Amino acid sequence: MPETWRALERECAQCRECALCQTRHSVVFGTGNPQAEVLLVGEAPGANEDEQGIPFVGKAGMLLDDMLAIIGLDRTKVYIANIVKCRPPNNRDPMNVEQDACIGYLRRQMALIRPKILVCLGRIAAIRRYMPDCAITTDLIAGFSGETAEEHEATLSLMREVGYESAFMFKYSERPGTFAQRHMPDDVPDAVKSARLTEIIALQGELSLASNRRDVGREFEVLAESVSHKRDDQLAGRTSQNKVVVFDRRDWRPGDYVRVRITGCTPVTLIGEPIDNR
Ligand code: SF4
Repeated sequence: MPETWRALERECAQCRECALCQTRHSVVFGTGNPQAEVLLVGEAPGANEDEQGIPFVGKAGMLLDDMLAIIGLDRTKVYIANIVKCRPPNNRDPMNVEQDACIGYLRRQMALIRPKILVCLGRIAAIRRYMPDCAITTDLIAGFSGETAEEHEATLSLMREVGYESAFMFKYSERPGTFAQRHMPDDVPDAVKSARLTEIIALQGELSLASNRRDVGREFEVLAESVSHKRDDQLAGRTSQNKVVVFDRRDWRPGDYVRVRITGCTPVTLIGEPIDNR
């Protein structure tokens, strides 16, 4: 018997196929016209969407509505859905393992809608395309409850795909009073967690170095924060991408903004020379 839209929506509303079911307020199935010729696909719900159960509300939704209006469309003439139907905590990017768990719903929605046009509204792709100076950073935990080798590989794959500028990386340890501590076994052996964390840190080192190398030769306005802990005659500061830059101190002090040209780098630090004269 062919699948019905209602049955699919009901099944999705009760889904517990990935860990996002523990933190969601609502499952954001989709909105619009299931007979539409145009299907818009975002990544995952944010806080407003999670509260209201509707994709693309708040500022992002207003922008999308304006853009649709420009081409003579509105929400009654398109269908809008996300790859992942539950909000990732703190609006982080959905992990590959969450996308894999959820993508079946989108595929089944597509089989029912049979759209002629599919529009992908990816945040990472849009940032890389339209805001090339924007840095993307993240937090990564190795060895969360039940993490398989495939899921760890998916984390590495996501890192390569996004190309994070930097990341805070940890191995999982239980925190008293959290949902995970009360309901999810800490079942990944410590040696496995450590090995996975080592791989994550090594990969992030490569990605950070590649990102920093792209900055060599560019100029940045740097907020001087402190005297460099390695050399008294140098200051350490940060660019607006939150990257650390070390440069000659001269008469500048912490708190000054200094224009700096980048001349070299390590995976964690940019090395520069001030362009302003002092
Ligand atoms: S994100 Fe998708 S797979 Fe995960 S619990 Fe929600 S509906 Fe299920």
